[in-house]
Amino acid sequence: MGLPKRKVSHARQGDRRAHAALATPKLVECSHCHQPRLQHHACPNCGWYRGRQVLRIKTAAPGASER
Ligand SMILES: [Zn+2]
Repeated sequence: MGLPKRKVSHARQGDRRAHAALATPKLVECSHCHQPRLQHHACPNCGWYRGRQVLRIKTAAPGASER
């Protein structure tokens, strides 16, 4: 099994991880209910996408935790 010839220095490890940062999710305002939603995703609050309803949103019964 191939093994590295020498230890990777902390600087080199940092260089490798320079592109490993997590990006914040791109949130945009829903045009229908004005709640924040993920860009290019149907709104989880009202189920609208591009000006029409694409999801049926279950209205949770009070006190009942669904799934
Ligand atoms: Zn919405």
